[in-house]
Amino acid sequence: MPFGLLNRVSVRLSLWYTALFAISTATVLVLMYYLVAQELERKEIEVIQSRAKEYASLLQTRGLAELKRRVLSENDPADEKSFFVSVISPFEVVQPVFVPQEAGSLRLEVQRFLEQTDITRVPKDSKKDFALIRVRLQNGSNLIVGRSTSNRGALWQPFRQTVLPAGVAVLFLSLVAGALFAHRAMLPVRQIVATARSIIQTGKLDARVPARKSDDELDEMVRLFNTMLDKNESLIRAMRESLDNVAHDLRTPLTRLRATAEVALQNSSVSSEAQEALADCVEESERVMSILSTLMDITEAEAGMMKLQREGIDLCQLLREVIELYEYVAEERQVGVRGDFLEPCVVSVDPNRLRQVFANLLDNAIKYTPEGGRVTITTRNEPGQVVVVFKDTGIGIPPEEQDKIWARLYRGDKSRSQRGLGLGLSLVKAVVEAHDGKVTVTSKPGEGAEFTVVIPKQTSVPQLPSGVVESRTTETSDVRS
Ligand code: ADP
Repeated sequence: MPFGLLNRVSVRLSLWYTALFAISTATVLVLMYYLVAQELERKEIEVIQSRAKEYASLLQTRGLAELKRRVLSENDPADEKSFFVSVISPFEVVQPVFVPQEAGSLRLEVQRFLEQTDITRVPKDSKKDFALIRVRLQNGSNLIVGRSTSNRGALWQPFRQTVLPAGVAVLFLSLVAGALFAHRAMLPVRQIVATARSIIQTGKLDARVPARKSDDELDEMVRLFNTMLDKNESLIRAMRESLDNVAHDLRTPLTRLRATAEVALQNSSVSSEAQEALADCVEESERVMSILSTLMDITEAEAGMMKLQREGIDLCQLLREVIELYEYVAEERQVGVRGDFLEPCVVSVDPNRLRQVFANLLDNAIKYTPEGGRVTITTRNEPGQVVVVFKDTGIGIPPEEQDKIWARLYRGDKSRSQRGLGLGLSLVKAVVEAHDGKVTVTSKPGEGAEFTVVIPKQTSVPQLPSGVVESRTTETSDVRS
């Protein structure tokens, strides 16, 4: 089952990682911004203080006219960094010496700001302050020197131009790097999921998670998971082997039993009850023999030891033969069987084995379809493979049973009333896979089942016997309806 993007642990981890990274980076940047702003402010005040001392000594030694001349020569009214200079007489008369444009509004209010403190900050707007410093002179008057401190604006500019874009880029990089790391870290977990899924889907017990050499917790988990799979595999193999051994060992005594019963049956002096009992013995021993030989066929095919007598054949023809074989059974159960074969499907397969496969699938389709139902068999050529679909309108298979029906001796809950051994589909799967093919089922309970068999075309398909293809071109055989 594919996971949604936000359900992936790696995506969630990297989002958490990026969010934490963003919060901590933002905190550091804000802190830095305020520290630098404070430091700059301190420096600004120092500059104003030293200029105020200089102007105060000039005022005391050379008088107001000289101070005015000096201030005018040093400051430009249009420059936002020029100094505001004003003298307040002992009678609190404000005498402006130099008022830059920036400080226009302070001109008369200056007295109000300096009532208590020697250093005052007057906010001008959201980004700028005006810092004012008072120097008390010996004659009782006060010299006020101030300047606009546009630190935050000055700081914010490079911050916005450099630090913010760099921060966004770093954040993006951290998201990508975080996603990569998390994706890498989750690799063993994904491998475990893929291995478990492949074992469930293909039934191949030898699948293992690739070993890692990092010696961490995930490595330990992979090792333990593989060990658990080893144990499961050996247990299942041992179970299968004992089943196969039993099947093998039972064949000889059963054959002997049937032969003995048959000989006894031929004896005319045996009573009719004994004859009936002997006939039952022959029938039952045949049934058990057929179970045993199917079990052994499955084992052979699963172990890759089934000898396939491959021939180039048209699967449609094989299917027609199978449909014909079941004509009587279908008629009896009043189930319509229809084969839609639009073009020959030539593949290199073992015809006897595939006949078994198709017979089992058709037998099931008829068996599990109630009276008046329909079974449709279609074939189609696809690049490199042939697809055969058996679709019925029968009782269907509940979703929770769909994985189990392929197991040996498994019978669905609703199928117990029908004849059967629970070996048909195991044989179908084993034989199709021995041909490197695949068989799958889709079904909704109550709406029927659809079995799809995919058989790869062999690259070296032997030639068909002449005339076989021609006699079947684009024919639709409606066997029964
Ligand atoms: P059985 O001898 O029981 O038919 P199979 O191995 O052939 O054994 O099938 C296993 C189980 O799969 C059956 O018992 C039945 O529950 C289910 N099954 C197989 N084919 C169909 C079908 N066409 N429709 C509904 N159920 C099916």
